Amino acid sequence: MKYIDEFQDPDLARRLLDRIRATVTRPWALMEVCGGQTHTIIRHGIDQLLPDEVELIHGPGCPVCVTPLEVIDKALEIASRPDVVFCSFGDMLRVPGTGRDLFGVRGEGGDVRVVYSPLDALRIAQQNPDRQVVFFGIGFETTAPPNAMTVHQARKLGIRNFSLLVSHVRVPPAIEAIMNSPDCRVQAFLAAGHVCSVMGTGEYPELAERHRVPIVVTGFEPLDILEGVRRTVVQLERGEHTVENAYARAVREEGNPAARAMLDDVFEVTDRAWRGIGVIPSSGWRLSERYREFDAEHRFSVDGIRTVEPAECRAGEVLQGLLKPHECEAFGTVCTPRTPLGATMVSSEGACAAYYLYRRLGAAPARREATSVV
Ligand code: SF4
Repeated sequence: MKYIDEFQDPDLARRLLDRIRATVTRPWALMEVCGGQTHTIIRHGIDQLLPDEVELIHGPGCPVCVTPLEVIDKALEIASRPDVVFCSFGDMLRVPGTGRDLFGVRGEGGDVRVVYSPLDALRIAQQNPDRQVVFFGIGFETTAPPNAMTVHQARKLGIRNFSLLVSHVRVPPAIEAIMNSPDCRVQAFLAAGHVCSVMGTGEYPELAERHRVPIVVTGFEPLDILEGVRRTVVQLERGEHTVENAYARAVREEGNPAARAMLDDVFEVTDRAWRGIGVIPSSGWRLSERYREFDAEHRFSVDGIRTVEPAECRAGEVLQGLLKPHECEAFGTVCTPRTPLGATMVSSEGACAAYYLYRRLGAAPARREATSVV
């Protein structure tokens, strides 16, 4: 557990906390959308430093966690083929599919490789023209542009033995789904700064207006989180619901036009299933018709695979903010990072992994006081 003196600027952190305390008059429930923000919050004990009235609910923004079991099973099927080199970022290898994971496929002789960029996979395809090379393209608006660019490049260079297994998802429809849930307690959002650095903030004002929720674009450092919370609480106390950018050092209103143009060229919006949550309309991307020949699902005819999620894993409720990880019966007992039942216990951005890693093993976390400097 980290303490406030370990923050980058402890005095500023204390001032921000004092301003939050001075502002808040009643209970508020805020959702941080991104799993990276969740890890910052739990690692630095920010939820324990905040006044009791401010509850942070962990959101669905962990790319590995929301990739449906069905897609994992498709990856396992493709990776098992003798003619395939299956490339992925390392965090997908331990995500459990039905009965095994990608490490298991590798153990059985499958050619599963960890790469650090989709362009590494494209290079492998160039060097191995007699093999089929597949890259596992998962994640949010942050990882989609480089994957789109790689497919664009494959087409341009005429590399036909490369394909993408696509499971990209979009944040705004997930916020919509959370707000439409009858069990929703969320009253405001800390939006994911890196997503907005690509997509800009243009998709949020309509959401904020329709659901009457403040949305504050927030970064990932502890001080970013505190500033995001402060701005959100100010809006809630005033009865406002606007979009604010608290991460201006990285986010412009229009986002990254070049990245957005690449997304528009290569992908088209589609309905997507989210692990443990179900299908959310218009919440993902797939390859557009022009690039369909690079779609691994079609190339390897795995689009018929259907899978049922295991009932004992409650990651769907965790991802929707309905359950804290330590409230799951399996947490820390049958489900640990070494024996994960769900992706939220595996991923470096998963809420269950954060609670386990930073020893939130008990029930309700104890609050800690920060010394005031005002
Ligand atoms: S603790 Fe394990 S079983 Fe429970 S929700 Fe998290 S990943 Fe699923």
